[in-house]
Amino acid sequence: MIKPIIAGNWKMNKTIAEAEAFTGRLLADFAATAPPDREVVIAPPFTALKVLADALQGSFVRLAGQNLNEAEQGAFTGEISAGMLKEAGCTYCLVGHSERRTLFAEGDAQVNRKLTAALKYGLRPILCIGESLQEREAGKTFPVIERQLKEGLNNLPASDMKFCVIAYEPVWAIGTGKTASPEQAQEVHRFIREQILAIYGVSVAAEIAVLYGGSVTPDNAPSLLALPDINGALIGGASLNVEAFVRIIKGS
Ligand code: PEP
Repeated sequence: MIKPIIAGNWKMNKTIAEAEAFTGRLLADFAATAPPDREVVIAPPFTALKVLADALQGSFVRLAGQNLNEAEQGAFTGEISAGMLKEAGCTYCLVGHSERRTLFAEGDAQVNRKLTAALKYGLRPILCIGESLQEREAGKTFPVIERQLKEGLNNLPASDMKFCVIAYEPVWAIGTGKTASPEQAQEVHRFIREQILAIYGVSVAAEIAVLYGGSVTPDNAPSLLALPDINGALIGGASLNVEAFVRIIKGS
């Protein structure tokens, strides 16, 4: 049984004080009850990582980097390495988010190098994949997903693959308010699992969490998370509001 993952990607939002206030309220919401039976992950801006790592120590909330550089160190102004994220308290790191691919020209080969760097430092990569509207309308969704998986996971052994998470995020659904219908999402999630099965075999395919991302809200999350091949959600906008995020975690 795959433990569902509910991950919030805050992007370039929230000051340190706002981040602390959010997590304080998040922990308070579960203070009187058992921790959620879902893995809860927050990807704040880098500036808030260490403060949140201290505040969340021993709690059920895990931290993720939003991006990393594939190099270990060096003259890469403005970048951050896997080792730095690990030291700051991250368990996970997003890799290949569509905003990185489109705004910062990251291609599949670079995404693969980033994923490898994350794994080297014991960070669980959340590999983000998804087709654009143009690609969907041209009937290219499956070939695009297949390419992003094959190239993003290039040379990755099964032992490392088991440590990875996949997030299917149709680019046309990110931040647009247009969610994939449960049928559209399930169809692609099934395809992703079949691709993992073909590359890595049954046991890896059965263990990999495949998250859905794209305008997830407290209202549409339950029907998406109930689908057989969806094992959680990667949430942008709705993860900025603690009440909405808690509702998604609780599935209510
Ligand atoms: C995202 O940025 O990964 C995302 C899914 O954003 P939103 O939920 O706002 O569509």
